[in-house]
Amino acid sequence: MSRFLCERYLSLEAYTPGEQPQDMQYVKLNTNESPYPPSPGVVEAATAEAGRLQLYCDPTAAKLRDALAARCGVKRENVYVANGSDDILYFAFMAFGGDGAFFPDITYGFYKVYCELLGVRYEKIPLKDDFSIDPAQYAGLGGMIAFANPNAPTGLALSRDTVEGIVRANPGHVVLVDEAYVDFGAESCLPLVEKYDNLLVVQTFSKSRSLAGARLGFAVAQPALIDDLNRIKFSTNPYDINRMTQAAGIAALAADETNMENCRRIIATREDAARRLRQMGFEVLPSSANFLFARTDKIGGGDLYRALKQRGVLVRHFDAPRISDYNRITVGTPEQMDALIDAITAILEG
Ligand code: PMP
Repeated sequence: MSRFLCERYLSLEAYTPGEQPQDMQYVKLNTNESPYPPSPGVVEAATAEAGRLQLYCDPTAAKLRDALAARCGVKRENVYVANGSDDILYFAFMAFGGDGAFFPDITYGFYKVYCELLGVRYEKIPLKDDFSIDPAQYAGLGGMIAFANPNAPTGLALSRDTVEGIVRANPGHVVLVDEAYVDFGAESCLPLVEKYDNLLVVQTFSKSRSLAGARLGFAVAQPALIDDLNRIKFSTNPYDINRMTQAAGIAALAADETNMENCRRIIATREDAARRLRQMGFEVLPSSANFLFARTDKIGGGDLYRALKQRGVLVRHFDAPRISDYNRITVGTPEQMDALIDAITAILEG
């Protein structure tokens, strides 16, 4: 760090994204990307827009928000879009974290980083021993609440009814439900938005819509919350979603049947991989996401991660208390999962 860095950032611990190594071709099961490419219509739409890159994009992203509103059964003013859902999470902690924030001790690592960056007081609420969120611990907390549903990296999901209970038990604060992985088998809370003015549902095109590299996330809430997010966006970077990504997002929604079909394929592959891992002696959490969270007594989490990497298979290991025995394994194509299982078999056979 330089001697010029503001003092308040000296102790900031940045988020470590999953590795994107360029040294060789890996079986890449470490960042929860879709193994399936975007639809041809998406590529076409983005390419056509490339010829207009001399022009700024629409800062209100009106067409994209209309397409999302139609898909989600809401109105344009209920929809906010951003350069990846990470930006939405960041803005939400900035906008709504005034009384502090609460989130599970094991969840998406960025929540803590945003709070530290923004100076938002936060408290981590321990998951139960089985790694599920205990809704009883989320009543009247006196600050903003954020959790991923399904949670990451566990893959465990709460029912919509349970989330509704949390939203209802905290009427004075925003409850942010991060639904990055919802299309892989969890119940979305989108239908609750019209009932609760404190519910902010955040989703992304990165996983179920094969657009991680385009950077596109969206939030659905009542218009007042959307206005708050826009206040921050228009105070920082109004042109945050480039023309190609806006066009890609609209085209991806037009091809949403294909996207949802891909999700069903991924779910089938996930269940098959979970079954095979359990047969090999792994404990695998029941996942509603596009990844599995698994451990075995036969080899430590970090050792397995390193041995897999040596064999060209990348998974994600978190060297954190409670979960260092585990690895998070993105569900890829059936062929990629075969490669994973073969590599683990060879490692365990020593
Ligand atoms: N929420 C969760 C729980 C995630 O795992 C991720 C992906 N790392 C994100 C949000 C951010 O996704 P993106 O910025 O690609 O939309």
